[in-house]
Formats: sequence, C-alpha cells, structure tokens
Amino acid sequence: MLIDYHVHTVCSWDGREAADAFCRRALELGLSEIALTPHAEFDPREPGFGRYQPLACLEEVQQAQERYGGRLEVLLGVEVSFQPQHTPRIAEFLAGWPYDLVIGSVHRVGEFDYSVPYGREGAGGPGPGPAGWSPEPYLEALLAAAESGLFDVLGHLDVLWRSAPPGTREKELDRAWPRMAQVVAVVARSGRGLELNTSGLYQGPGQTYPAFELLRHFRREGGKVLTLGSDAHTAASLGRGLEYALELASAAGFSSLTRFRRRRPQPFPLPRPAEARGCPPAPAPGSPPQAVWPSP
Ligand SMILES: [Zn+2]
Ligand SMILES: [Zn+2]
Repeated sequence: MLIDYHVHTVCSWDGREAADAFCRRALELGLSEIALTPHAEFDPREPGFGRYQPLACLEEVQQAQERYGGRLEVLLGVEVSFQPQHTPRIAEFLAGWPYDLVIGSVHRVGEFDYSVPYGREGAGGPGPGPAGWSPEPYLEALLAAAESGLFDVLGHLDVLWRSAPPGTREKELDRAWPRMAQVVAVVARSGRGLELNTSGLYQGPGQTYPAFELLRHFRREGGKVLTLGSDAHTAASLGRGLEYALELASAAGFSSLTRFRRRRPQPFPLPRPAEARGCPPAPAPGSPPQAVWPSP
C-alpha cells in the first residue's frame, strides 16, 4: 500500500494541473492513496492569502472519489501555513471542514519566506538578505506549530535550509539542532506526526525534509506517526523519491506508516521500497544517506 499525502492540484494557488491528472498518474504508479493538500494561508503577506476555496476543494475531492473509487483513495487534505499570531483563526477554520489530513507547515515568518530558494525574492516581499538570514524565527514558529496541537503532521520540517545562503547550513546546524530536537520531541510526545517530504531531494538542499538524522531522532523520541509526501505541483512529480523515502524510514527505525481518515491516524506496515520502484527515482539515492544534521 503506497501513499502520497502532499499534493497540490489547481485547487492550490500554485498547483498546475487538475486532480484528474494526478489521479491517473497515481494509478500508473501503483499508489493506493493520495491526499490533496492545497495551501491555506491566513496572513495577508502570504502569496495565497484569500485564494483558498475550501468548498471548491471539497468538491474536487468528491468528484475524484466518485471517478476513481475502488481503485484509488483520494483524501481531503490541506496544508496550513502556520504563523503563531493566527492560531485562533486557524483553529476555528479547521473545525469547519471535514478534513482527513491537516498538514501544518511554516513558510513565512514576518517578512521572510523560508521556503523559497535562496536568491529568489519571497513572493510576498523581500527577505532579510544573506547577512540577515537566521534559523531562529523559523524554529520558534515551528515550535509554536508543534505545541499548538492543531496539526496531524508537520510538513517539510527542515525546509528552512532552502532559503539559506550557500554554506550557511553547515555553519548553523549545531546552533539549530537543540531547538529542532525539541520540536521533534514535542511532536513525538503529543502522539502527532511528521511527514517525510521528498521534494528537497530535487532542490538545493539535496535532502528529504526532514533529513535522516531528524527522522531517526523522532523515532528515538517515541514518534510513530509518519506520512510520505512528494509535495508535487505537477502530476509528473507525484510519487517522486518514494522508494528512497521508504529506505530512509526503515533505516530510521520505522516499521509502519500512517494513513488518515477524518484526522484519525491508522498505522499500516511499512511498504518494501521495491513497491515504489515505478515512482520517479531520487537524484542520487545512497545508503547510508549522506549526513545533514550532526548525529546526536
Ligand atoms: Zn509547504
Ligand atoms: Zn506543499
């Protein structure tokens, strides 16, 4: 049973193809479940603010379920852009819709979007520039997201390196580790989860989000809830790197993954990596994986 729980169709302001294209591709790849997870943004400075239409997205999922039911499960998900000051509004909003899965992600903090690649201006305004880049605001917002209890899984946990000036990750890792480890411990203790997001394998950081060491730390802290996601914005990107992700999850100590229905986690046995062999491969899979974070 293969899942891809992080997918952006045209229902997401930055998705490029209709759900139908993703569903057909999912069947080709042998996926059994996908979750459509459009961006929901609550801060006027974010690029998708005011563009999320929850009713249209619900209908999109219902239509896909009718068309592909029995062959592919299509779940109603959402990727919330978390900013601590909007916590009450987010909680109120989430209570109003019948989600299967809610991903909480930190993108923008203040004036800076940590998820955009280094050198590209944040869509909602310029960042602080190389001299001003710091992991601290991101990590503080991430801890608040973990402590909020609002989310089933935290999305692309260490995506912050994507926006870091070249060479910064290596310099900042030791400083960032204690706070990141704290985030992971909070999520593990709460019984909530992480996603293993493969998009970073194809981006500047060249790592999954989270990287292997963080994933293993989550497991060692008692973390059990884990989903997989490609963060695909096109059907061609669906399922990318899933074979590699399954190898990492196994190496990190996981023997199960988690599916969701109406936000209730349901563990199922970790698929063998070979089951995902038909998916687009990771650029340079290696075992053991290259270290990103220092090993605690
Ligand atoms: Zn995201
Ligand atoms: Zn996403």
